[in-house]
Amino acid sequence: MARYTGPVCKLCRREGTKLYLKGEKCFTDKCPVARRPVPPGQHGQGRRKLSEYGVQLREKQKARRTYGVMEGQFARYFEKASKKKQGVTGEILLQALERRLDNVVYRLGLASSRAEARQLVRHNHFQVNGRRVNIPSFSVKPGDVIEVRESSRQKPRFKQMAQVTSRLVPAWLEVNSEALRGTVLRLPNRDEIDAPVQEQLIVEWYSR
Ligand code: SF4
Repeated sequence: MARYTGPVCKLCRREGTKLYLKGEKCFTDKCPVARRPVPPGQHGQGRRKLSEYGVQLREKQKARRTYGVMEGQFARYFEKASKKKQGVTGEILLQALERRLDNVVYRLGLASSRAEARQLVRHNHFQVNGRRVNIPSFSVKPGDVIEVRESSRQKPRFKQMAQVTSRLVPAWLEVNSEALRGTVLRLPNRDEIDAPVQEQLIVEWYSR
């Protein structure tokens, strides 16, 4: 399972917006996008006008990078979404990305970033409906219960987490921070997905 391992702040600077890839740092004034909002590289400061293709491409990259998904897997998400007979393709795509287990762990406040959530899932710290799941792309469904496994609860990072409940959890999820457990109440609506992307442009990019 491949993943991007380069500097992540560079990705935000390329997209010109905060993608919140680094956890706590994203909320401080150390965030490079807040301090120096120019694209990375020698010519980053030069003005450039994006073509229609460029605008669509940037939107696709933004979504992909927000959820930490590689190119091929993202294309498969799109292909699946476009085959659905009902619903708006762009919204179905975002919904599928939101349903990823690593995203849900992040949304529940059990990790400070999606990258951290991914690592925790890979390291066998979570179970879904009582069964260990270590696949970050695992797709949750309504009624699923996601929790930290018994053997991991005593680890300092989870103990500390049980006392901190600062994250605003979206309405489609329910969290019990003390029990380190979350439940999927329903699938998210578009207005509950705060990803900074215009999904229609992604659909246009793939429809070229
Ligand atoms: Fe880095 Fe987070 Fe700022 Fe993005 S939002 S540039 S990941 S600190």
